[in-house]
Amino acid sequence: MADQVTLRWPVDNRIINRRFGEFPELYKQFGLPGHEGIDLYADHGDNIYAAADGRVSMAGHPNKHPYGMHIRVKHQVGSTAFETVYAHLSQINVQVGQQVKAGEVIGLADNTGNSTGSHLHLTLKITGKSTPGYPAGIVDPLPYLSGQVIGPPSPPTPTPDELTDLIVFPSDKLAFYSGPSKDAALWAFLTDGEPLRVMGNADQARQAIGKSDSLIKVKRRDGKEGWVVARFVRTTGGALPPTGLAVVPTVDGLNVRARPMVEAFSLGMVTPMDTLTVLGDEKVERPKIGQQLNWLNVKTPQGLVGYVAAWYVRAADAVSFGGPVMAFAPGGTAVKARVNTYLRKQPAPHSPRQQAIRRGDELIVISDPDDPPVQIGQKGDWVFVENSSGERGWVPSGALYLKK
Ligand SMILES: [Zn+2]
Repeated sequence: MADQVTLRWPVDNRIINRRFGEFPELYKQFGLPGHEGIDLYADHGDNIYAAADGRVSMAGHPNKHPYGMHIRVKHQVGSTAFETVYAHLSQINVQVGQQVKAGEVIGLADNTGNSTGSHLHLTLKITGKSTPGYPAGIVDPLPYLSGQVIGPPSPPTPTPDELTDLIVFPSDKLAFYSGPSKDAALWAFLTDGEPLRVMGNADQARQAIGKSDSLIKVKRRDGKEGWVVARFVRTTGGALPPTGLAVVPTVDGLNVRARPMVEAFSLGMVTPMDTLTVLGDEKVERPKIGQQLNWLNVKTPQGLVGYVAAWYVRAADAVSFGGPVMAFAPGGTAVKARVNTYLRKQPAPHSPRQQAIRRGDELIVISDPDDPPVQIGQKGDWVFVENSSGERGWVPSGALYLKK
C-alpha cells in the first residue's frame, strides 16, 4: 500500500466558490476563524466523487446539521489517518461501512443544510495536523487537491553532491583523494587551517570525524571536490584552544603521537603523573575519554602537543581543583583537600581522628628530605601533613590535590 496520496477533485469542474479561511466575520458565530473547508462549484444533481480510497463512516442528514445531507469518509494512508466530508448533498449513493474508491460517485450535489445555493462543501481533517484556531486536524484541502501529498514525508536523501553547512579542517597534512577510496588518485596534501565544506550527509560525517577511516567528500575553497579520511579532520581550524578538561594517563609510558593513530610517530611519552590538557571543544572531546579507537588532541605539562589514545586516559577533573590531582609532593609542598576528611593519628581509615579537615583547607606535606616524595591523589596511600594550626597527622592521599 502506498504511504502517500493526493486528493482527487470531488467535482468535475475546478471552480472554487469559497476558499478555506474566508469570511471570518460569518464563521465567528460557529467559533471558527473562517471557512473550515472549501466550497466547489456544483449544480443541483452534479456528481460528487470520493477524493481518495476509504471507508464511509457517516452518510445521512442528521437533524438540523449545518452540513445538511452529507457523507464522511475515513482514509488511511501508511500510518496517516485522514477524513473527507462532503456536504449539502441531494442524494447519497453509499452506506456506512462501505469501501469506496477514489473517483467513485458517492452522491449528488445540492444545497441542503446551511447553504444558500447548490455547491459542494469539502472538509479535510488530517490526524496530527492542525490550523491555528480550527478544531484539531482541520486543514485547507486545496493544496492536497493540487498535488501536495498526505502521508509521512519521505526523508530527503542527500545526494553526494549536495553542500552541507558543516566545515571541517585538516588536523594535519591531509591527503585529498579523487575518489572515495585511499586507492584513488592522490590529488594534493591539504594543510592545517584550510576550511573544507563537507558534501552529502553532514550527520554521517559528524559521526566519523576524528574517528573513522571512512572517507568523506569535501569541497575546497577553490571549488575542487574530493575525498579525505574522516579520522584526520576536525571541526575547528587553526591551533586548537585548550578546553577546561584535563586527562591523566591510566598506563605508564603512554605515547603522545603526531597523528591520531597507533601507527603514527611518537613525539614522547607521558605517565599517570602527567596531567594533560585536552585541546578543542570540551563538549566534543569529553565523550571520547575511555573510548576505544578515539583520540584526544592534548598538550602535555612539558608543552608537547599531540594525540593520545582516549582509552588509556581518565578525566582528571584537576582544573576544577586548581591543580594536579596526581603529583609527587616532596616535604614542604602545599596541598589542598578536595573533600571533607580528617587528620588521623595513624595512616589507617579507622585510626583516631585528631581534627576535621574541610574541603579547600590548605595543608603542608611533612616528610624527611631524604624520603622519596609522596604521591598525592593516589587512592589507598596516606600522606603526613600539617594543618594551618600546626597540628600534624595523616590524611588519605586521594583526598588531596596539589596547590598551584
Ligand atoms: Zn462551505
